[in-house]
Amino acid sequence: MNVLVIGGGGREHAIVWKLAQSPKVKKIFCAPGNGGTAQLAENVPIPVDDFAALAQFAKDEGVDLTVVGPEDPLLGGIVDFFTERSLPIFGPTAHAAKIEGSKCFAKHLMKRYGIPTARYESFLDYESALAYVREQGAPIVVKADGLAAGKGVVVAETLEAAEAALYRIMKEGVFGQAGARVVIEECMRGEELSLLSFVDGETVKPMVTSQDHKRVFDGDQGPNTGGMGTYAPVPHMSAELVEQIVETIVKPMARGMARDGIPFRGVLYTGLMITDEGPKVVEFNARFGDPETQVILPLLETDLVDICTAAIQGELASVDVRWKQESAVCVVMAAPGYPGDYPKGEPISGLEKAGESVTVFHAGTKQTEKGIVTSGGRVLGVTGTGRTLEEARDRAYAAVDRIRFEGAHYRRDIADRALRRS
Ligand code: AMP
Repeated sequence: MNVLVIGGGGREHAIVWKLAQSPKVKKIFCAPGNGGTAQLAENVPIPVDDFAALAQFAKDEGVDLTVVGPEDPLLGGIVDFFTERSLPIFGPTAHAAKIEGSKCFAKHLMKRYGIPTARYESFLDYESALAYVREQGAPIVVKADGLAAGKGVVVAETLEAAEAALYRIMKEGVFGQAGARVVIEECMRGEELSLLSFVDGETVKPMVTSQDHKRVFDGDQGPNTGGMGTYAPVPHMSAELVEQIVETIVKPMARGMARDGIPFRGVLYTGLMITDEGPKVVEFNARFGDPETQVILPLLETDLVDICTAAIQGELASVDVRWKQESAVCVVMAAPGYPGDYPKGEPISGLEKAGESVTVFHAGTKQTEKGIVTSGGRVLGVTGTGRTLEEARDRAYAAVDRIRFEGAHYRRDIADRALRRS
């Protein structure tokens, strides 16, 4: 088979890496790809939003399967576009992907299907939103409805902070149209957990659990980022809890959407808060998470081609999705200044010294005549695997210590809390 992967981050490198292990795969293309995907696939310089050029490329090259990484092309309708042209593609339609693109849409479906989540109201009008916030009091959560690059959520501990957030989103319009509507939610307390699932419309096959580290500095300090590291599986989240999440949240969501004529096919990412009242949904995403994919796919035993193909055909029930009895830890090495402004073009050394049971996924890198250089904020995702979480963590950090680029920074405490607990 010829396979096309769309995107160019660490997530897409991990997808390419996993697909490359399939005996069914002859050739992989990655559009646009990065310095890491270039080693396993042919990078194709087509932007992720140029659907016509991507579909034409897939036709010309005899691509049998396309896998989409990022949310933007999904929300823009790439799956609809390819499907109309009889090109097999793994991912949700634009309508189904709206569960990520509009928080209001997702909340509406959750209410309709009886899925546990924070109480909420949505508003198009600033004065009514303000009145509601004052009536509810703090703590309270203010969210821009649309995509805001992970920055559209404010967990306000005081009424002043909530009012300021509302003003910034609705009056100053800092997120543009994405903030024309706001969702105001009850503040949930508890530990966060991610559970991604393969879904073919009806059948749900959960992946291993993972936990993200969003803040830039150790001890969850500093501003939010796209994610500074992650690990899987989460040892203190029991099989019973996962079962409860699948039965009370993921399956009702998939079945409800199918019943409503918007079947979800692809990766359904459920962000959860484990509250005293049980697991509740924080958000849904319509795709593989990044960096979560960089710890999940190294633990997947089953051929990813079989899973994607079966999901497209609505035959996921026939695939036995198996996981290695191991752990994985991913440490993100970022450019100096990230998540703010950062330099590009710094040479990276030591990549070949990563060591045993370590895979270095490239996020923001580029292959040049000088070798591999930095080209983004999150530069590398260094993933160690091992029989235990501790072994995986130690391998990842040993590799991080051998890799160098000017001003590299990373968190030292990925998976620490879980290790302390156990
Ligand atoms: P989201 O983009 O909706 O995932 O929100 C980003 C982050 O804000 C989440 O990972 C949570 O840490 C936090 N958050 C979102 N909604 C709530 C809520 N209702 N209660 C408490 N924290 C929340």
